[in-house]
Amino acid sequence: MAEHVVIVGSGPAGWTAAIYASRANLNPVVFEGAITEDNRLQGTLPLGQLALTTEVENYPGFPAGDLSGFLKSSLAEEHQWLVDLHQKEGCSGPELMYLMRQQALNFGTKVITDDIVEVDFDNRPFKLRSLGGQEVEAHSVIISTGARANYLGLESEERFKNQGVSACAICDGALPRFRNKPLVVVGGGDSAVEESDYLSKFASTVYLVHRRDELRASKIMAQRAKDNPKIEILWNSTVDEILGNDNDGVTGVRLKSAVDDSTREQEVSGAFMAIGHTPNTIFLEGKLEMTPKKFLKWTVPFRTNTSVEGVFAAGDVADDYYKQAVTAAGTGCMAALDAERWLAAKGL
Ligand code: NAP
Repeated sequence: MAEHVVIVGSGPAGWTAAIYASRANLNPVVFEGAITEDNRLQGTLPLGQLALTTEVENYPGFPAGDLSGFLKSSLAEEHQWLVDLHQKEGCSGPELMYLMRQQALNFGTKVITDDIVEVDFDNRPFKLRSLGGQEVEAHSVIISTGARANYLGLESEERFKNQGVSACAICDGALPRFRNKPLVVVGGGDSAVEESDYLSKFASTVYLVHRRDELRASKIMAQRAKDNPKIEILWNSTVDEILGNDNDGVTGVRLKSAVDDSTREQEVSGAFMAIGHTPNTIFLEGKLEMTPKKFLKWTVPFRTNTSVEGVFAAGDVADDYYKQAVTAAGTGCMAALDAERWLAAKGL
């Protein structure tokens, strides 16, 4: 029997779609992603990018306050360790994601901890196959697979992944190899500032390397970087080589000036990339229309329709402009409503 709606991806867009679809009695099935080493390295584990961040200060409904009582009463017991994870007042990214997941479960969403690796959208019902070999049929599909962190593309960067090169300060920053050592963060957006701020708790100095003379980050975040005495911003600079050896991993970076092409070496024990994101759409190549940057195309204004009727997209996988948790949740809601109305119109 084909499912009414299968949701692929488990960030704010996916869980919001699941909450709405389950409350509409569509019995949604969420493929939340597989727990694999590949996904860990790529930053594509279940719960999406928000699960890789720290404090969430701009998601409405979570002002500063002690959430521990609420988390204890609302989360399933096996996830309550998160309550201890977050020491600050307010909400953390992982907490927010577990709360969304729990809310979807409460309304009867079925969750499968696996990746979808292949889709057949040529015939209806649609067919989807998971990494573990599970096949599922669906009358409608919501794609909410989000995006993953970019790397610079250097050979040396590839060589030292797991030995000092990372694209996730929250995942790796507390490792002993980074403690009280100088570190470098590459990028100039909100992520770069957030990662630098987080790493400054462990590192001796964080060099924030930006290729221009002005941060792209929001004003409040940019000020945070400038005010942090442990963050030193290296303007007009790029990293053109990661330096290191097999024993010690990363020992430094070569910096190139964007002004006069001069280079110099900076001693660091870790290099964190925060240079934007690529949508997770590889498994959809040739199946759905995409932009030149491989984001899914929304084909109807103010709707979440894709190029295939009955397939909808929500969140960062289709949004290279706003890229916020709350906008992802908003389009997740829209996708569920669009799917519900489409199914009703088809009598499914
Ligand atoms: P982003 O805003 O796209 O910034 C990427 C940064 O990396 C830019 O400064 C860019 O430089 C630089 N960059 C890109 N490619 C590069 C390369 N090859 N070499 C060197 N530098 C490179 O991405 P983001 O910081 O990940 O943020 C994504 C979205 O999430 C944004 O909408 C952001 O507001 C949001 N976000 C919000 C928060 C928060 O509010 N707490 C935290 C994290 C993310 P240029 O500036 O020169 O282009």
